[in-house]
Parts: sequence; C-alpha cells; structure tokens
Amino acid sequence: MKNITVIGSGTMGNGIAHVFAQNNYHVNLIDVNEAQLKKAIETIGKNLDRQVVKGSIKEEDKVSTLSHIKTFTSLKEASANADLVIEAASENINIKLDIFKQLDEYAPAHCILASNTSSISITKIASVTKRPEQVIGMHFMNPVPVMKLVEIINGYKTSKEVSEAIVNLSKAIGKVPAEANDYSGFIANRILMPMINEAIICLQQGVGSVESIDTVMKLGMAHPMGPLQLADFIGLDVCLAIMNVLYDGLGQDKYAPCPLLVNMVSAGILGAKSGEGFYVYTPGSKELVVSPRF
Ligand code: NAD
Repeated sequence: MKNITVIGSGTMGNGIAHVFAQNNYHVNLIDVNEAQLKKAIETIGKNLDRQVVKGSIKEEDKVSTLSHIKTFTSLKEASANADLVIEAASENINIKLDIFKQLDEYAPAHCILASNTSSISITKIASVTKRPEQVIGMHFMNPVPVMKLVEIINGYKTSKEVSEAIVNLSKAIGKVPAEANDYSGFIANRILMPMINEAIICLQQGVGSVESIDTVMKLGMAHPMGPLQLADFIGLDVCLAIMNVLYDGLGQDKYAPCPLLVNMVSAGILGAKSGEGFYVYTPGSKELVVSPRF
C-alpha cells in the first residue's frame, strides 16, 4: 500500500494524515469544508514543529512529511488511486453510509475501505458496499501521532487477508494493533464509556465531588486522567452519542446514558471544546478548575 486517502480533516483526520505522511505514504486528505482542510495542514505543521523541538524528528523530516499530503474537496478525485481509504468524518451514521456508497463507486477494486468510527457498526457500513469483505474498522486514538493503539474491528464479512493487511500496516506505521469483533462500542468504548457514565452517575447521586471522583481514579487506579476530565476532553456530546449506540445496540439498562450527561449536552455544555464541562476551560490556562455548577 502506497496511496492512502483520509476522509475528514478534523481532530482525527489530520492526525491520521500526519502519521501516514511521516511514514512516507502518499496521503490524499479530503474534507467538505475547505477552511477545515487549511486548518488541518496548519495543525499538522504545528505538531511537526513540536516534534522538531523535542528532537524526535529533523526540520527536513517536517518538510518531507508536509510534501506527502495533498488536499481535496472532491471524494471522487481523492479516492481514484487509493490503496486504502480511512474515513474519519463526523460520527453520524447517515454521513458514513453516504461516504461508503460513493467510495464503493470511486475507489479502485483492490482498495480497502476503513472507518475510524468510535462506535458505529462496521458490518452496517460494509452493507452499503459491494465489497463488504474489504471493509474494516481502523480505530485510532486521540492524539493520533502520540497514541500507540489502533483498535482493528473485523466486520461480519471482513476477510482474514484484509484483516492481516491492516494489522501489518498498523505495525509498519509504528502502532500497536489490537483486534476486536464488531459489537457496539467494540472493546475500547464498550469498557471506557460505561466507566465514564458511571462516574457521572456518582456525581449526580452525590457519591463524590468532581475532584474526589477524578482523584480516586487517578491515584487509586493509576489512570493518567480522571473519568470526568477525560469526558470533557472527548466531548460530552461524543460520550452521549456512544452511550446511545451501546444502549440501542446491546439493549440493556446498564448502558442507559446518565440523565445529568443528557442534560449537560442539551444545555450545550460539551466539555473542553465549548469552554465548560465538569471543569471550566480558559484559553491559555492549564489550571484545572472545577465548574461552579458542581
Ligand atoms: P471532527 O468533527 O473533528 O472532524 C470531522 C470532519 O469531517 C470535519 O472536518 C467535517 O467537515 C468532515 N466531514 C463531515 N462530513 C464529511 C464528508 N461527507 N466528507 C468529507 N468530510 C466530511 O471529528 P473527529 O473527532 O475527528 O472524529 C472523526 C471520526 O473519528 C468519528 O467517527 C469519531 O467517532 C472518530 N473518533 C474520534 C476520536 C476523538 O477523540 N475525537 C477518537 C477516536 C475516533
């Protein structure tokens, strides 16, 4: 595989493009939003600058990495010569189904179609294509250039050959693959999200304060970040969307999203990206301040 097309240039898409370009793959990065594409290239440049300052890469590596990335707004043009497409567009099933229908038409017959979805069924996504055996989940973690894990999700019809190719490719770009089968939330979010949801239930019931809950999990369980801070970092809307996928897909009450989480999202309190979640976020400040609502 030489030519990789990345769809969506947001938080995850720019990180995925960064890592492949840095490993000398040709990357076509596509987004429907031209301003977002420009921002993505700036973000990749800044992240490469950070690597240069740390001494993990040289200035010329930055230049060569950026030279491996081309930007597009047309899916047809961006996928015409792809060996692998990785879709990292918004976590919305209709958007993803529409993209995969088009990809099936535009991408070469040998091309593997991967999705970076956090929770949407790979089998469902594959069902809108005529090549379900070549559709797979490639779930990178945020921030992609830093985090080692790629959760690889085999859909119901994903072939062994395709799965092996993606395992090997993940290793080739310096990541550690872990395979999962296609049930709601896969492994990562099936375990992480109910833990975050339970932390929010504990807060709602007054079992502990924001600080107590995060401190217990950080110091007691050696988590690098407490679950409430992590929820703010992921985005409370994203956490709610994933809990709804678990609840709908697995059909058990234990996956019901916490009413406090539902209310916060309805009120537009989405975590770090909206400036407030369980903590408040002031631009430029690294201090962790609990929201006065709690
Ligand atoms: P984001 O909102 O930052 O970026 C999504 C991008 O997709 C936007 O730039 C948007 O313009 C673009 N887009 C929307 N429709 C498109 C289309 N039809 N064609 C091309 N581009 C389109 O989202 P994100 O956080 O980068 O998440 C992307 C995917 O990665 C989601 O499936 C999400 O669940 C998954 N994911 C996110 C994280 C995370 O921590 N943010 C971690 C793992 C996986």
